[in-house]
Amino acid sequence: MDAVETQSLMQLNVRPAVRMVRGRGSYLWDEHGRRYLDFVQGWAVNCLGHCPTILTEALHTQLDQVVHVGAGYHNTPAIALAHALTEASGLGRVFLSGSGAEANEGAVKLARKWGRLHKGGAFEVITTVDSFHGRTLAMSSATGKPGFADPFSPLVTGFPKAPYGDVDAVARAIGERTVAVMVEPVQGEAGAVVPPPGYLAALRALCDRANILLIVDEVQTGMARTGPLFAHQTDGVTPDIMTLGKGLGGGLPISALLARTEVACFAHGEHGGTFAGHPLLAAGALAVLSHVRSAAHTTLRAESAAALERALREIAAEHDLVLRGRGHLWGLVLPGPYADAVKDRAFELGLLLNAARPNVLRLMPALDVGRDEIGAFGSLLSRALGETLLRGG
Ligand code: PMP
Repeated sequence: MDAVETQSLMQLNVRPAVRMVRGRGSYLWDEHGRRYLDFVQGWAVNCLGHCPTILTEALHTQLDQVVHVGAGYHNTPAIALAHALTEASGLGRVFLSGSGAEANEGAVKLARKWGRLHKGGAFEVITTVDSFHGRTLAMSSATGKPGFADPFSPLVTGFPKAPYGDVDAVARAIGERTVAVMVEPVQGEAGAVVPPPGYLAALRALCDRANILLIVDEVQTGMARTGPLFAHQTDGVTPDIMTLGKGLGGGLPISALLARTEVACFAHGEHGGTFAGHPLLAAGALAVLSHVRSAAHTTLRAESAAALERALREIAAEHDLVLRGRGHLWGLVLPGPYADAVKDRAFELGLLLNAARPNVLRLMPALDVGRDEIGAFGSLLSRALGETLLRGG
């Protein structure tokens, strides 16, 4: 495959010159039949690996029923998925959409509407430095990655930033116009940055005192990526609003905006989308969610996470690296800007990795990645690290 073949695509990513044609579990195959061990899984999306039978069977069944009916009519999978999500989260209302950014847009719109009704028009949503909330114009503005939104100015106003993990800084940022605080329970795109223990609980208490909303962006951390079904459960809190995406559909483009019933204040027509509550996607997500919530998967996932953590701790010790993360979301901090070089060498060796930052590798395998695969991953990563760090990147 050469550059001419791909020139119709906007050039937005550096990609290896192969096409991925087939996936199963923790493995992907390219057009030449070469196999790769996948520790990216579509950016923490394929929570049950590639093409799990649970998902493909649910899709085939729904394909024979109906694919899309539009927002003007109810459909069975969307109702069932919304019900399952309310049951799992304790949040009473759900809106189903297509991407994480879209769910977050809905969250901010909902908070602003709530501010109009209950807070004299307060509209500011405090977000955090180095956060990631999506690529729409408003979510680019909400995102705290330095320089990220600069090419697209003027930005959407109303997103003051506080350093991540710093509750006092959020307290200082709260003013008359503040309606909500929006945070990731673990900052995924920043390279699995874990906040100090009790961060969300302290933010919850702060929001309660200030009578503002706590929005938790679980697009990356939700669907058991960090252990519990939702990462905020680690802190024993309930947010006012939560967003889900990525793992929700196990590979399908579906996201969800959830809110406490009293906060879900959209009037008819104030929010929506052509593909909102799409039956095919909802049927797939329902199958994935049911599986992830099952006792069998919960046990398997915990064993897998423990094995993964052990392997990563060994690698971190061997190569003198800092390890951070939880469950199946980890960052390995390298001694310099070598993440791309390690990723490229790992690709040659048949292992797919993500370079979240110039000096951070991010690992986000399937939640049921097995011991053998974790063993193979450990050997390949160790080799790629050893070879790359030895020659200084
Ligand atoms: N929020 C978080 C925490 C994310 O990690 C991402 C994607 N990396 C998004 C929002 C945006 O999701 P999407 O790309 O599906 O719009």
